[in-house]
Amino acid sequence: MDFHSNIYVAGHNGLVGSAIVRALEGAGYQHIITRTSRELDLRNKEAVDRFFETEPVDYVFLAAAKVGGILANNEYPADFIRDNLLIQTNVIDAAYRANVSKLLFLGSTCIYPKFAPQPLKEEYLLTGELEPTNEPYAIAKIAGIKMCQSYNRQYGTRFISVMPTNLYGPGDNFDLQTSHVLPALIRKFHEAKLNQAPTVEVWGSGTPRREFLHSDDLAEACLFLMNHYEGNEIVNIGVGIDISIRELAERVKEVVGYEGEITFNTSAPDGTPRKLVDVSRIAGLGWSARISLDEGLQSVYQDFQGLDLVEQ
Ligand code: GDP
Repeated sequence: MDFHSNIYVAGHNGLVGSAIVRALEGAGYQHIITRTSRELDLRNKEAVDRFFETEPVDYVFLAAAKVGGILANNEYPADFIRDNLLIQTNVIDAAYRANVSKLLFLGSTCIYPKFAPQPLKEEYLLTGELEPTNEPYAIAKIAGIKMCQSYNRQYGTRFISVMPTNLYGPGDNFDLQTSHVLPALIRKFHEAKLNQAPTVEVWGSGTPRREFLHSDDLAEACLFLMNHYEGNEIVNIGVGIDISIRELAERVKEVVGYEGEITFNTSAPDGTPRKLVDVSRIAGLGWSARISLDEGLQSVYQDFQGLDLVEQ
C-alpha cells in the first residue's frame, strides 16, 4: 500500500475494522473508504457488485462479519453461518472481478479443531472436529479461507487470510447476552461494584484457557501483513500467552476494584478447553504484539467507564 492507495475497510464500525481505520490513519494513509451497513448491506450481492464497479478500490480489509460470544453463537447459528457466508462471498468475488491489488480476510482461531494440540499451528486446520458451540461460524470462516486460497490458485489474486485469537479493545460489545468473556466480565464486575453486590457470576468452570489480543495490536499486524506477506497460507495473530477464565476474572476484579466474591456457574457452557495460537509464523516475518493484558485491561476499563450504558 502507498499513501495514495484506495483502501476499503469493510466493517469499519466493528472492533477490528475501527482499529484498522485508526492504524491506517495513524500511519498516514489518506484514501480510506468506508460504508456503514445501512449504506451498503454486504449480504446483498447486487449492492456489493455496484459498490466495487463504481468505487476505485486497490486494497480491501475484510473485517465485516457477524460475530458474538458463546451464547449468541449457540442461539443464532443460522444467522452466523448465513450472514458470514454471504458477506465474505460477495466481497471476495467482487474484489476479484474489480481487480483489486490485494485483500486481507479476517478469520478466527475457532476454525481450529476443538481438541487440536496447543498452541495451535496453522497446519492444524481441518484435522479434526470443531467446537460445536460455534461450528456454523467456524465453517463460514473456513469457507472464506478456502475461497481466498482457491481464487489465488485459479485467478492469480493476492488474497491473504489471518487468524486472530480472542480480541478485545475500544468499542467492544458489552451486551451480556452476546459479548465475549472479557468485556462481559468488565461490565459484570463494574456493575457489582456500583451495586455493592456480594458476588459476581462467571460462566462455566473457570478452567478453560484463552489468549487475549488487543484490537490495536491486531490492526498493526494486519497492516504489516498487507504490506509484507504474499504467501497463500493462513497466518495466526496472537500474543502467544494464555490464562484461565478464573485468572482473567481475578485480574478484572482487581482492575475494577471490586471487593466481593467470584462464583462459577457450572451449568453454563465452557466451550473449547483451551485456545492459544502458535505465533511463530508471524514472529518469523518480523511482527509481535506489544500491548500487555494488564495495560489493555486498564485502558478498556477506562473506555468502558466513559460509555453511556443506557444504550447497551
Ligand atoms: P469462546 O472463546 O468462543 O468460547 O467465547 P467467549 O469469550 O464467549 O467465552 C470464553 C469462556 O469464558 C467460556 O468458557 C465461557 O463460558 C467463559 N465465560 C465466563 N463468564 C462469561 C461471560 O460472562 N460471558 C461470556 N461470553 N463468557 C463467559
